[in-house]
Amino acid sequence: MNSIHPVVRALALSILLAFLSFIPLGVAHASVSSPRPASKLVHVQPPEPEAEPWETSIAKIEAARHAGALSTSEAARLRWLAISDWQQLPPSYQPQAPSHVISAPQDRNTSSKPRTLPAPGASVPLHAHPNSSEAGPTDGMVQAAARMAAVFSDHTEWDSATTEAIYADMEQAQQQELVSLNLNITSTHFVIHWAANDDDLPDGCETTACSYARAISDSLELSWREFENYGYNMPPPMHFGKEKIDVYIQPVVTVCGASYGDAEEEDKKILGMSWPGDIYLRSDQSNHDVLLPLATHELYHQVQWYYVGFSGNGCGSWISPWLWYHTGSAWLMEATATWIEHEVYPTRSREPGATYRGALRLDF
Ligand SMILES: [Zn+2]
Repeated sequence: MNSIHPVVRALALSILLAFLSFIPLGVAHASVSSPRPASKLVHVQPPEPEAEPWETSIAKIEAARHAGALSTSEAARLRWLAISDWQQLPPSYQPQAPSHVISAPQDRNTSSKPRTLPAPGASVPLHAHPNSSEAGPTDGMVQAAARMAAVFSDHTEWDSATTEAIYADMEQAQQQELVSLNLNITSTHFVIHWAANDDDLPDGCETTACSYARAISDSLELSWREFENYGYNMPPPMHFGKEKIDVYIQPVVTVCGASYGDAEEEDKKILGMSWPGDIYLRSDQSNHDVLLPLATHELYHQVQWYYVGFSGNGCGSWISPWLWYHTGSAWLMEATATWIEHEVYPTRSREPGATYRGALRLDF
Protein backbone atom coordinates (compact mmCIF):
# COMPACT_ATOMS: atom_id res chain seq x y z
CA MET A 1 0.00 0.00 0.00
CA ASN A 2 1.34 3.33 -1.03
CA SER A 3 -1.38 5.33 0.64
CA ILE A 4 1.12 6.99 3.07
CA HIS A 5 2.35 10.21 1.67
CA PRO A 6 6.12 10.14 1.04
CA VAL A 7 6.63 13.24 3.12
CA VAL A 8 4.79 11.70 6.04
CA ARG A 9 6.75 8.47 5.64
CA ALA A 10 10.05 10.34 5.55
CA LEU A 11 9.07 12.28 8.61
CA ALA A 12 8.07 9.12 10.46
CA LEU A 13 11.32 7.45 9.49
CA SER A 14 13.41 10.35 10.69
CA ILE A 15 11.57 10.37 13.98
CA LEU A 16 12.15 6.61 14.33
CA LEU A 17 15.86 7.00 13.53
CA ALA A 18 16.20 9.81 15.96
CA PHE A 19 14.48 7.69 18.61
CA LEU A 20 16.71 4.66 17.94
CA SER A 21 19.84 6.76 18.01
CA PHE A 22 18.73 8.31 21.28
CA ILE A 23 18.36 5.01 23.15
CA PRO A 24 21.99 3.86 23.10
CA LEU A 25 23.10 7.39 23.87
CA GLY A 26 20.76 7.48 26.80
CA VAL A 27 21.83 4.09 28.08
CA ALA A 28 25.49 4.93 27.62
CA HIS A 29 25.00 8.19 29.40
CA ALA A 30 23.17 6.51 32.23
CA SER A 31 25.74 3.75 32.63
CA VAL A 32 28.68 6.14 32.63
CA SER A 33 27.16 8.53 35.08
CA SER A 34 25.42 6.09 37.38
CA PRO A 35 28.14 6.06 40.05
CA ARG A 36 28.02 9.83 40.35
CA PRO A 37 24.76 10.20 42.23
CA ALA A 38 25.94 7.64 44.77
CA SER A 39 29.21 9.42 45.43
CA LYS A 40 27.40 12.73 45.55
CA LEU A 41 25.09 11.33 48.19
CA VAL A 42 28.07 10.45 50.33
CA HIS A 43 29.42 13.97 50.06
CA VAL A 44 26.19 15.73 50.95
CA GLN A 45 25.62 13.84 54.19
CA PRO A 46 24.71 16.52 56.73
CA PRO A 47 27.47 16.93 59.30
CA GLU A 48 26.80 15.91 62.87
CA PRO A 49 25.75 18.96 64.88
CA GLU A 50 28.83 20.31 66.54
CA ALA A 51 28.78 19.90 70.29
CA GLU A 52 29.15 23.07 72.28
CA PRO A 53 32.04 23.22 74.78
CA TRP A 54 29.78 22.70 77.76
CA GLU A 55 28.26 19.59 76.18
CA THR A 56 31.66 18.07 75.51
CA SER A 57 32.78 18.79 79.06
CA ILE A 58 29.63 17.36 80.59
CA ALA A 59 29.99 14.21 78.51
CA LYS A 60 33.49 13.76 79.96
CA ILE A 61 32.31 14.48 83.50
CA GLU A 62 29.50 11.97 83.18
CA ALA A 63 31.84 9.36 81.73
CA ALA A 64 34.08 9.82 84.77
CA ARG A 65 31.11 9.59 87.11
CA HIS A 66 29.86 6.40 85.53
CA ALA A 67 33.39 4.98 85.74
CA GLY A 68 33.35 5.65 89.48
CA ALA A 69 35.88 8.48 89.45
CA LEU A 70 33.39 11.13 90.63
CA SER A 71 30.58 11.13 93.15
CA THR A 72 27.17 12.47 92.22
CA SER A 73 27.86 15.75 94.03
CA GLU A 74 31.35 16.14 92.61
CA ALA A 75 29.99 15.60 89.14
CA ALA A 76 27.25 18.16 89.81
CA ARG A 77 29.76 20.85 90.78
CA LEU A 78 31.82 20.16 87.69
CA ARG A 79 28.73 20.19 85.47
CA TRP A 80 27.79 23.56 86.92
CA LEU A 81 31.26 24.85 86.02
CA ALA A 82 30.83 23.39 82.54
CA ILE A 83 27.79 25.56 81.83
CA SER A 84 28.80 28.69 83.75
CA ASP A 85 32.56 28.98 83.26
CA TRP A 86 34.05 25.94 81.56
CA GLN A 87 37.51 27.49 81.35
CA GLN A 88 37.73 26.96 85.13
CA LEU A 89 37.29 23.19 84.83
CA PRO A 90 40.22 20.88 85.66
CA PRO A 91 42.25 20.26 82.48
CA SER A 92 40.95 16.74 81.92
CA TYR A 93 37.36 18.00 81.70
CA GLN A 94 38.10 20.88 79.39
CA PRO A 95 36.22 20.38 76.13
CA GLN A 96 39.38 20.19 74.04
CA ALA A 97 41.13 17.62 76.27
CA PRO A 98 41.47 14.12 74.76
CA SER A 99 38.86 11.89 76.36
CA HIS A 100 41.37 9.19 77.41
CA VAL A 101 42.89 11.50 80.03
CA ILE A 102 39.64 11.65 82.00
CA SER A 103 40.43 11.29 85.67
CA ALA A 104 39.14 12.27 89.06
CA PRO A 105 40.16 15.62 90.50
CA GLN A 106 43.60 15.29 92.06
CA ASP A 107 42.45 15.92 95.60
CA ARG A 108 40.21 12.91 95.65
CA ASN A 109 40.95 9.35 96.72
CA THR A 110 38.99 7.53 94.09
CA SER A 111 39.34 4.04 95.51
CA SER A 112 37.97 4.52 99.00
CA LYS A 113 34.34 5.26 98.42
CA PRO A 114 31.64 3.16 96.80
CA ARG A 115 29.67 4.88 94.08
CA THR A 116 25.96 5.07 93.80
CA LEU A 117 25.01 5.63 90.21
CA PRO A 118 21.61 7.18 89.63
CA ALA A 119 18.68 5.15 88.43
CA PRO A 120 18.36 5.12 84.63
CA GLY A 121 15.53 7.61 84.75
CA ALA A 122 17.68 10.05 86.67
CA SER A 123 20.58 10.06 84.23
CA VAL A 124 21.63 13.41 82.93
CA PRO A 125 20.42 14.13 79.42
CA LEU A 126 23.46 14.70 77.26
CA HIS A 127 21.66 15.25 74.02
CA ALA A 128 20.86 18.75 74.99
CA HIS A 129 21.05 20.30 71.55
CA PRO A 130 17.80 21.85 70.60
CA ASN A 131 16.60 20.50 67.33
CA SER A 132 18.98 22.27 64.97
CA SER A 133 16.14 22.78 62.49
CA GLU A 134 14.70 25.17 65.05
CA ALA A 135 17.51 27.62 64.37
CA GLY A 136 16.29 31.07 63.56
CA PRO A 137 15.34 34.14 65.49
CA THR A 138 14.18 32.64 68.71
CA ASP A 139 14.06 32.94 72.41
CA GLY A 140 16.49 30.67 74.22
CA MET A 141 14.18 28.72 76.48
CA VAL A 142 15.03 25.36 74.91
CA GLN A 143 18.75 25.96 75.15
CA ALA A 144 18.64 27.30 78.69
CA ALA A 145 16.41 24.54 79.97
CA ALA A 146 18.64 21.92 78.31
CA ARG A 147 21.72 23.29 80.02
CA MET A 148 20.05 23.54 83.37
CA ALA A 149 18.61 20.04 83.06
CA ALA A 150 22.12 18.78 82.30
CA VAL A 151 23.22 20.15 85.65
CA PHE A 152 20.15 19.69 87.85
CA SER A 153 18.46 16.46 86.71
CA ASP A 154 19.76 14.55 89.74
CA HIS A 155 19.78 17.48 92.17
CA THR A 156 17.71 15.61 94.74
CA GLU A 157 20.68 13.27 95.20
CA TRP A 158 23.26 15.99 95.86
CA ASP A 159 24.64 16.61 99.31
CA SER A 160 23.39 19.82 100.89
CA ALA A 161 26.77 21.56 100.66
CA THR A 162 26.80 21.05 96.89
CA THR A 163 23.27 22.34 96.50
CA GLU A 164 24.03 25.42 98.61
CA ALA A 165 27.30 26.10 96.79
CA ILE A 166 25.75 25.94 93.34
CA TYR A 167 22.68 27.99 94.30
CA ALA A 168 24.92 30.62 95.91
CA ASP A 169 27.06 30.76 92.78
CA MET A 170 24.00 31.25 90.61
CA GLU A 171 22.49 33.93 92.80
CA GLN A 172 25.75 35.84 93.11
CA ALA A 173 26.27 35.84 89.35
CA GLN A 174 22.66 36.87 88.86
CA GLN A 175 22.88 39.77 91.29
CA GLN A 176 26.12 41.02 89.72
CA GLU A 177 24.53 40.94 86.31
CA LEU A 178 21.34 42.69 87.39
CA VAL A 179 23.18 45.40 89.35
CA SER A 180 25.05 46.27 86.16
CA LEU A 181 21.70 47.17 84.56
CA ASN A 182 21.56 50.53 86.26
CA LEU A 183 18.70 52.35 84.49
CA ASN A 184 15.02 51.53 84.44
CA ILE A 185 11.58 52.73 83.50
CA THR A 186 8.38 51.54 85.11
CA SER A 187 4.99 50.90 83.53
CA THR A 188 1.77 49.53 84.96
CA HIS A 189 2.92 45.92 85.09
CA PHE A 190 6.66 46.00 84.33
CA VAL A 191 10.04 47.39 85.31
CA ILE A 192 12.38 47.53 82.31
CA HIS A 193 16.11 47.51 83.20
CA TRP A 194 19.15 48.22 81.03
CA ALA A 195 22.74 49.43 81.30
CA ALA A 196 23.56 53.06 80.54
CA ASN A 197 26.84 51.97 78.93
CA ASP A 198 25.34 49.29 76.66
CA ASP A 199 26.71 50.24 73.24
CA ASP A 200 24.21 48.07 71.41
CA LEU A 201 21.35 50.32 72.47
CA PRO A 202 20.35 53.36 70.40
CA ASP A 203 21.11 56.96 71.30
CA GLY A 204 19.20 58.19 74.30
CA CYS A 205 19.65 55.00 76.28
CA GLU A 206 22.45 56.56 78.34
CA THR A 207 19.50 58.12 80.12
CA THR A 208 15.96 57.00 80.76
CA ALA A 209 14.96 58.48 77.38
CA CYS A 210 15.52 55.05 75.88
CA SER A 211 13.34 54.34 72.86
CA TYR A 212 14.32 50.66 72.93
CA ALA A 213 13.08 50.21 76.51
CA ARG A 214 9.97 52.25 75.73
CA ALA A 215 9.13 50.10 72.69
CA ILE A 216 9.44 46.95 74.79
CA SER A 217 7.37 48.45 77.59
CA ASP A 218 4.65 49.54 75.16
CA SER A 219 4.56 46.12 73.50
CA LEU A 220 4.30 44.36 76.85
CA GLU A 221 1.46 46.58 78.08
CA LEU A 222 -0.35 46.26 74.74
CA SER A 223 0.06 42.49 74.92
CA TRP A 224 -1.15 42.45 78.52
CA ARG A 225 -4.37 44.21 77.48
CA GLU A 226 -4.80 41.88 74.50
CA PHE A 227 -4.37 38.80 76.69
CA GLU A 228 -7.00 40.17 79.07
CA ASN A 229 -9.32 40.73 76.11
CA TYR A 230 -8.83 37.09 75.21
CA GLY A 231 -10.07 36.21 78.68
CA TYR A 232 -6.80 35.19 80.30
CA ASN A 233 -6.32 35.62 84.02
CA MET A 234 -3.13 37.62 84.25
CA PRO A 235 -0.65 37.06 87.09
CA PRO A 236 -1.66 39.35 89.96
CA PRO A 237 0.88 41.60 91.71
CA MET A 238 3.12 39.64 94.09
CA HIS A 239 2.38 36.34 92.39
CA PHE A 240 6.08 36.17 91.50
CA GLY A 241 7.10 37.68 94.83
CA LYS A 242 7.19 41.28 93.59
CA GLU A 243 4.81 43.99 92.43
CA LYS A 244 5.83 44.00 88.77
CA ILE A 245 7.50 41.68 86.30
CA ASP A 246 11.16 42.61 85.73
CA VAL A 247 12.43 42.89 82.16
CA TYR A 248 16.20 42.87 81.64
CA ILE A 249 17.74 44.21 78.42
CA GLN A 250 21.20 42.71 77.96
CA PRO A 251 23.95 42.66 75.28
CA VAL A 252 24.03 38.88 75.71
CA VAL A 253 21.19 37.09 77.46
CA THR A 254 22.69 35.97 80.76
CA VAL A 255 20.64 34.22 83.41
CA CYS A 256 21.86 32.83 86.73
CA GLY A 257 25.50 32.77 85.71
CA ALA A 258 25.07 31.24 82.25
CA SER A 259 25.22 33.23 79.00
CA TYR A 260 23.33 32.25 75.90
CA GLY A 261 23.68 32.62 72.18
CA ASP A 262 26.46 35.16 71.73
CA ALA A 263 26.75 33.98 68.14
CA GLU A 264 28.13 35.95 65.22
CA GLU A 265 25.39 34.68 62.96
CA GLU A 266 22.23 36.66 63.42
CA ASP A 267 19.93 33.66 63.27
CA LYS A 268 21.79 31.84 66.04
CA LYS A 269 21.60 34.61 68.58
CA ILE A 270 19.41 34.00 71.57
CA LEU A 271 17.00 36.92 71.60
CA GLY A 272 15.30 36.43 74.92
CA MET A 273 13.79 34.16 77.49
CA SER A 274 11.23 34.16 80.23
CA TRP A 275 11.40 32.55 83.66
CA PRO A 276 8.78 33.03 86.38
CA GLY A 277 8.79 36.73 87.22
CA ASP A 278 11.60 37.76 84.85
CA ILE A 279 11.90 38.44 81.12
CA TYR A 280 15.30 38.74 79.37
CA LEU A 281 15.77 40.42 75.99
CA ARG A 282 18.82 41.23 73.87
CA SER A 283 19.75 44.86 73.44
CA ASP A 284 20.76 44.75 69.77
CA GLN A 285 17.45 43.86 68.10
CA SER A 286 16.65 47.03 66.18
CA ASN A 287 14.04 45.35 63.98
CA HIS A 288 10.68 46.04 65.58
CA ASP A 289 9.08 43.27 63.53
CA VAL A 290 11.19 40.96 65.68
CA LEU A 291 11.42 42.85 68.95
CA LEU A 292 7.76 43.65 69.56
CA PRO A 293 6.29 40.18 68.87
CA LEU A 294 9.16 38.73 70.88
CA ALA A 295 8.08 40.77 73.91
CA THR A 296 4.55 39.41 73.38
CA HIS A 297 5.95 35.88 73.18
CA GLU A 298 7.92 36.23 76.42
CA LEU A 299 4.96 37.73 78.27
CA TYR A 300 2.83 34.79 77.21
CA HIS A 301 5.38 32.52 78.87
CA GLN A 302 4.71 34.47 82.09
CA VAL A 303 1.01 33.71 81.72
CA GLN A 304 1.89 30.06 81.16
CA TRP A 305 4.06 29.96 84.31
CA TYR A 306 1.18 31.51 86.21
CA TYR A 307 -1.39 29.03 84.93
CA VAL A 308 0.86 26.06 85.62
CA GLY A 309 1.41 27.30 89.16
CA PHE A 310 5.06 28.33 89.22
CA SER A 311 5.35 31.35 91.44
CA GLY A 312 8.98 31.56 92.46
CA ASN A 313 11.36 34.25 91.47
CA GLY A 314 15.12 33.75 91.27
CA CYS A 315 17.60 31.07 90.33
CA GLY A 316 16.93 28.50 93.05
CA SER A 317 13.18 28.64 92.45
CA TRP A 318 13.63 28.12 88.71
CA ILE A 319 15.03 24.60 88.94
CA SER A 320 11.54 23.10 88.85
CA PRO A 321 10.33 25.24 85.91
CA TRP A 322 13.53 24.48 84.00
CA LEU A 323 13.14 20.74 84.46
CA TRP A 324 9.39 20.84 83.85
CA TYR A 325 9.86 22.74 80.60
CA HIS A 326 12.75 20.54 79.48
CA THR A 327 11.01 17.24 80.14
CA GLY A 328 8.04 17.74 77.90
CA SER A 329 6.30 21.07 78.14
CA ALA A 330 8.48 23.02 75.72
CA TRP A 331 6.64 22.18 72.52
CA LEU A 332 3.25 23.32 73.76
CA MET A 333 4.58 26.43 75.48
CA GLU A 334 6.55 27.50 72.41
CA ALA A 335 3.82 26.67 69.91
CA THR A 336 1.19 28.65 71.76
CA ALA A 337 3.53 31.56 72.57
CA THR A 338 4.38 31.79 68.87
CA TRP A 339 0.68 31.63 67.96
CA ILE A 340 -0.19 34.55 70.26
CA GLU A 341 2.51 36.73 68.65
CA HIS A 342 0.51 36.65 65.44
CA GLU A 343 -2.70 37.39 67.28
CA VAL A 344 -1.29 40.56 68.82
CA TYR A 345 0.83 41.54 65.81
CA PRO A 346 -0.84 40.12 62.70
CA THR A 347 1.19 42.39 60.44
CA ARG A 348 4.57 41.65 61.97
CA SER A 349 6.43 38.39 61.97
CA ARG A 350 9.78 37.35 63.36
CA GLU A 351 9.85 34.16 61.34
CA PRO A 352 12.53 34.28 58.65
CA GLY A 353 11.07 34.55 55.17
CA ALA A 354 7.50 34.79 56.38
CA THR A 355 5.15 37.00 54.45
CA TYR A 356 3.13 39.55 56.27
CA ARG A 357 -0.58 39.07 56.54
CA GLY A 358 -2.46 42.18 55.51
CA ALA A 359 -1.09 45.49 54.41
CA LEU A 360 -1.49 47.39 57.64
CA ARG A 361 1.76 48.09 59.43
CA LEU A 362 1.71 49.32 62.98
CA ASP A 363 4.61 51.59 63.83
CA PHE A 364 5.49 52.20 67.41
ZN1 LIG B 1 9.52 30.91 73.91
